[in-house]
Amino acid sequence: MRSAAPLFRFDDRYARELHGLYEPWRAAPVPAPALLILNAPLAKELGLFCEALASPDGVALLVGNRIAEGSSPIAMAYAGHQFGSYSPRLGDGRALLLGELVGGDGRRRDVHLKGSGRTPFARGGDGKAAIGPMLREYVISEAMHALGIPTTRALAVVATGEQIARETPLPGAVLVRVAASHLRVGSFEYAAATGDLDLLRRLADHAIARHYPELATAERPYLDFFREVASAQAVLVAQWMHVGFIHGVMNTDNTTISGETIDYGPCAFMDRHDPATVFSSIDQRGRYAYGNQPRILQWNLARLAEALLPLIDEDEERAVAVASEALQGFEERYLSAWRLFMSAKLGLASDIVDRVDAAAIGAGVPALLEQQQVDHTLFFRRLSDTLRGDTGPVRSLFADPSAFDAWAPAWHKLVPATANERRAVADAMDRVNPIYIPRNHLVENALSAATGGDLAPLHELLEAITRPYEERAGLEAYAKPAPANAAPYRTFCGT
Ligand code: AMP
Ligand code: MG
Repeated sequence: MRSAAPLFRFDDRYARELHGLYEPWRAAPVPAPALLILNAPLAKELGLFCEALASPDGVALLVGNRIAEGSSPIAMAYAGHQFGSYSPRLGDGRALLLGELVGGDGRRRDVHLKGSGRTPFARGGDGKAAIGPMLREYVISEAMHALGIPTTRALAVVATGEQIARETPLPGAVLVRVAASHLRVGSFEYAAATGDLDLLRRLADHAIARHYPELATAERPYLDFFREVASAQAVLVAQWMHVGFIHGVMNTDNTTISGETIDYGPCAFMDRHDPATVFSSIDQRGRYAYGNQPRILQWNLARLAEALLPLIDEDEERAVAVASEALQGFEERYLSAWRLFMSAKLGLASDIVDRVDAAAIGAGVPALLEQQQVDHTLFFRRLSDTLRGDTGPVRSLFADPSAFDAWAPAWHKLVPATANERRAVADAMDRVNPIYIPRNHLVENALSAATGGDLAPLHELLEAITRPYEERAGLEAYAKPAPANAAPYRTFCGT
């Protein structure tokens, strides 16, 4: 039965407060919407009723064929540095903000469509998206969420019933995405480039009210705002590094103000630890390689600082001086987050993070894994077995197991000595080191089956990766890296 209450009660604070940073727009009608997947736990969290969402009226809303009462969809304007070069006008070329939902807890979240047709920002694009890439975003963002990494989330994917033109014609889809907000570094670059200081200030005040409300009364709110964004992003990228996530297209328009991961285009998880890992076919110089991500993030934050300069201080020289100092803080923030996460992964107490010996052991891990061509995820997961008395599984991951034997004693010295204590540490390690991540070959299998109409492999994959820490019988295949003879994995941006 359909509930009489409206499905969504949207607010539209962005549209009210930020004239000049969007275009009101409508989704392109689609011929035959069919719900492919609905995220029931997320719907519940948002106070939405799954049954109503899955009804024909609900699906019409989710695909943009119908507009919810009180909703005024908009395409957001933003600029961005893409692979280092500036594009003054990007914006939502194929996406729309339907509105904002305010939860019972006061949390405000954007509900956004991707693949909903051309907008005034579409440039040469068709405004559409294919089923595979939209389900890919669904799977990987849900995996990230389950790993405890801040991310936008996927509420639903709806097939449109039309074929879209890609290298070969592909079935089209719309993704319904939920985010703390869609404010990006590129939003600030766009506002700053208009030269309208009032608009820039309104954007910053809006972002502060939304994400860092405690700063509203700070003495230097815009400088502190910059510091907070830098800190949130530093922690985020540290988390990416620890799970071997490679975003693949870290342009400033894909760097959020909230500190959430956004835009799962050419992203992928690495199997074997290698800082040079790049999956994206368009990233030919490896700008966004795994090992470059912290540096790139800092570069993106420098673009945010530049955009904020006129708000930070009227005197440009002073503004540059304080913003540069704040930017320097990024590295320390990143490293301290990285060390803290690493100590948890190695089962070391957080109060020994600052000990020189512990820090050295953590810092040495990436080089060890790289030299020994070890699977990033399985190393940490199998390391706990050694505390239960079984060194076989982790040693077998090393090209030369004696390299593990040389490393292990120094680590062992830092973990407790009794068998009971060791078992407790091993269990704690298993709660932070996933056994299941969305491995590329598994994701590809699931997506190609789904594109052909079989969603079962996708649901099986989701079952594994949404409880990533719980090793379960029958899911062995989901814990294995791609077969050694598999072709190098490639991802594509033209999604
Ligand atoms: P992305 O790489 O997905 O972050 O997108 C970068 C820019 O290209 C954004 O302005 C998108 O809205 C736009 N874009 C990507 N694909 C399309 C498309 N098929 N049609 C229109 N605009 C697109
Ligand atoms: Mg983007």
